[in-house]
Amino acid sequence: MQLYNSLTHKKEEFIPREQGKVSMYTCGPTVYHFAHIGNLRSYIMEDVLEKYMRFSGLDVKRVMNITDVGHLSSDGDTGDDKMLSGAKREHKTVMEIADFYTKAFFEDCTALNIKTPDVVTPATSCIDEFIRVISALIEKGFAYEAGGNIYFDTSKLLEYYVFGDFNEDDLEVAVREGVDADENKRNKTDFVLWFTKSKFEDQELKWESPWGLGYPGWHIECSCISMKHLGEYLDLHCGGIDNAFPHHTNEIAQSEAYLGHKWCNYWFHVHHLNTDKGKMSKSKGEFLTVSLLKSKGYDPLVYRFFCLQSHYRKSLVFSYENLDNAARAYEKIITAVSKLIDSGNSDETAYNTLMANFTAALDNDLNTSLAVTALYDVLKADTSDSVKLKLIEEFDKVLGLDIIPHAKELQRKNAEAESDIPPEITALAEQRKEARKNKDFALADSLRDKISELGYIIEETRQGTKITRK
Ligand SMILES: [Zn+2]
Repeated sequence: MQLYNSLTHKKEEFIPREQGKVSMYTCGPTVYHFAHIGNLRSYIMEDVLEKYMRFSGLDVKRVMNITDVGHLSSDGDTGDDKMLSGAKREHKTVMEIADFYTKAFFEDCTALNIKTPDVVTPATSCIDEFIRVISALIEKGFAYEAGGNIYFDTSKLLEYYVFGDFNEDDLEVAVREGVDADENKRNKTDFVLWFTKSKFEDQELKWESPWGLGYPGWHIECSCISMKHLGEYLDLHCGGIDNAFPHHTNEIAQSEAYLGHKWCNYWFHVHHLNTDKGKMSKSKGEFLTVSLLKSKGYDPLVYRFFCLQSHYRKSLVFSYENLDNAARAYEKIITAVSKLIDSGNSDETAYNTLMANFTAALDNDLNTSLAVTALYDVLKADTSDSVKLKLIEEFDKVLGLDIIPHAKELQRKNAEAESDIPPEITALAEQRKEARKNKDFALADSLRDKISELGYIIEETRQGTKITRK
């Protein structure tokens, strides 16, 4: 499989360190509020990536953190503490906020068919690990104490800006630091590993450490949680593009300084979801959540389908109009699949060719929009319904669109609607059938009109005559 690697800025063959096995890490949510659908775009695309790797026979172990401490409103250690502002906003404790929004996050994931990673670890459960790694970084000369806090010293690295291709939006974080400059930092890009003396006097969660009572910075948690569950070497690290700098840059800095060798080989970054006002955020415009989409009548899987229709390395523009288009396309697929009849006929050549289209699309840097095209090609293909159904079932193990269950549901509803037809209408339909058999089309047409006047539609389909209420 070819994947674009943000670290080398090119598409590369994905080769895990251990044959057949993949260690995969994903930055989890900061659980101070609902996730907006822009955040969830990353999780959807990462889910497709994980599922496709499993589909290809790889044994994936995926780990994700839950940030329930240490994340400030600016990723560059300035601004308010996100968890604390969530607690203040809702007059709850930080842990109540963390529990509530962790649950809400996984409910959204379930609605979007996003598989829960094999290991999910809240940052607050790993404080000992953070202290151990921070102590080692101080010992190795990569971290220093200033004003009571512990900082990572980026000047000790041969290279700090490893990704190099972050865009101006991401760079703004570093620029903003100047506004609220932390005088303790020796270099502008240094970052906090452990807060002891901080402006947050009312910080609820504090732990004993060799440097006094305090709490960890945000970046350290991902390095430590990844190393704890996946060891010293990581195959694949995923996240939204806005995390490339400074978060992932800092993760690499501290992990490699601590380990003394290269840490992660492949970096997978999902690009922004934009609105007509620019990058989606919680503070700009309508706060778009899965529950909001549901309350407006959208199936969350329509949003998943909308995301799959475009490539993960392209910005995607969200609008209700675009979502409506996706909803219509999704419905058409479900309707088409509901009409397929499993006759048990196989056609190995057609199966293999259509399957090859699908895998070729995903092998090419997870091109989900081409994978969706491969799905349309199956529906149009000149082969048996059974082959189509089998292929769709297989594709959906990766796409996660619940196509077959939704098609069966539609079949059931249609059958129910048919069984609701009054005897009077069924009798007229019988007469019409008889008239057609006798080639008395004038009579057949007048009977159809009569049925129509009574509020029913009669049509000929591949499955026979179908009567539906208007
Ligand atoms: Zn992270």
